[in-house]
Amino acid sequence: MPDSAISRHHQFLIIGGGNAGLSVAAQLLLEDRRLDVAIVEPSAKHYYQPAWTLVGGGAYDIRDTERNEADYIPQGAQWIQDAAATFEPEANTVVTAGGQRLTYDYLVVCPGIQLDWHKIKGAREALGKNGVCSNYGYELAPYTWECVKNFQGGTALFSAPGTPIKCGGAPQKIMYLACDNWRKRGVLSKADVRFTSAGSVIFGVKVFAEALLKVVKRYGIKTEFFHNLKEIRGESQEAVFDIMQDGKAVDEVTLKFDLLHVVPPMSAPDFIKNSPLAAPGNPLGWVDVDKLSLQHVRYPNVFSLGDAGSMPNSKTGAAIRKQAPVVVKNLLSLLHGKALAGNPVYNGYGSCPLVTGYGKLILAEFDYDNNPTPTFPFNQAEERYSMWVLKRYVLPWLYWNKILPGKA
Ligand SMILES: Cc1cc2nc3c(=O)[nH]c(=O)nc-3n(C[C@H](O)[C@H](O)[C@H](O)COP(=O)(O)OP(=O)(O)OC[C@H]3O[C@@H](n4cnc5c(N)ncnc54)[C@H](O)[C@@H]3O)c2cc1C
Repeated sequence: MPDSAISRHHQFLIIGGGNAGLSVAAQLLLEDRRLDVAIVEPSAKHYYQPAWTLVGGGAYDIRDTERNEADYIPQGAQWIQDAAATFEPEANTVVTAGGQRLTYDYLVVCPGIQLDWHKIKGAREALGKNGVCSNYGYELAPYTWECVKNFQGGTALFSAPGTPIKCGGAPQKIMYLACDNWRKRGVLSKADVRFTSAGSVIFGVKVFAEALLKVVKRYGIKTEFFHNLKEIRGESQEAVFDIMQDGKAVDEVTLKFDLLHVVPPMSAPDFIKNSPLAAPGNPLGWVDVDKLSLQHVRYPNVFSLGDAGSMPNSKTGAAIRKQAPVVVKNLLSLLHGKALAGNPVYNGYGSCPLVTGYGKLILAEFDYDNNPTPTFPFNQAEERYSMWVLKRYVLPWLYWNKILPGKA
């Protein structure tokens, strides 16, 4: 049951009951049932976001991605159903939108990432009609599938922004699913498909980039790098891009489209950006932590993980699986008066299950230095049916049954 006191203290206060927050809470309590753990989380629903890619491709039911948050709050943890609003780390205090003053011994900050739709003029108004779609939202992803399955040829644009985003591969995964659908329906030959990305490469890790360029070629996709989507005119089906050079806009181009899949720029949530916890001078405002220990660089009793943290890893749920045990170990070390030196560190592991078609997937796994860190004893840069099965069936099951309960 949600709990709402006006002012109170917890040993461990966790901001955000998403993938990261629930994993850390569960792992702490598995270590020691007697710990006093509270989770501040406003939402009554929890979402398995990685499946939204498949929803947009018509291969997953959106309703299966939503569950009740209450069912995943670990036994022994307290749920404060409210939103964190301001931080006073010098006073070990968090003030909520509902006016509660919560004090803590240790704070874990993981409220996820903010979708900055407002940075694309006209995006909010355009989404959900006239072929303008996005997999970045529970309400939005089903319309992507409407657009894909009804597409009869013409220009299809798939955008990717210049900021870090959750699941860096998602902007292109839906493009491959769409192309595969159009190939099967015989409309791919009538399509002008373009990957319009503000970035400079298809993927940051060379071995996977090479494999993806073959997929791009197979579907006849054109890559348009340094294209930063800045405006959508839904009614006239036009997308306006800045052409970027050295981080600056040097030109502008307007493309007509029949389908536009949009991925917005992202940043830390505003209440993090505007807080003392944010990385100074970084306009994206991530929680300023050491990338190995995940400990805040100025407030030693504060940690962050997941999409809101400043670590330069690929922002994925897969990364959280490796981050959560590091945070838990370090928190318990502090609790027991031990030094963090010698504890395992987070090596930047991230994983991107790159769906390249129905029944086809390249499982990219890599660390901070973009070195591949494969789990399986085969060439993971090859498209495989087994890895599709992993994404479609095994990972959702693991998420709900093992990862959120802190057992994987
Ligand atoms: C389309 C798509 C495809 C993806 N594909 C993959 C994939 O294939 N593999 C993969 O590993 N990852 C994938 N991801 C990324 C993955 O979902 C995220 O990286 C992961 O959910 C991040 O976990 P988190 O706990 O940091 O944030 P979230 O899981 O987003 O949780 C954040 C929580 O904080 C809460 N919150 C927000 N504001 C406040 C506040 N003020 N106070 C308190 N709580 C607050 C929110 O309600 C939410 O419950 C995908 C994401 C998307 C959108």
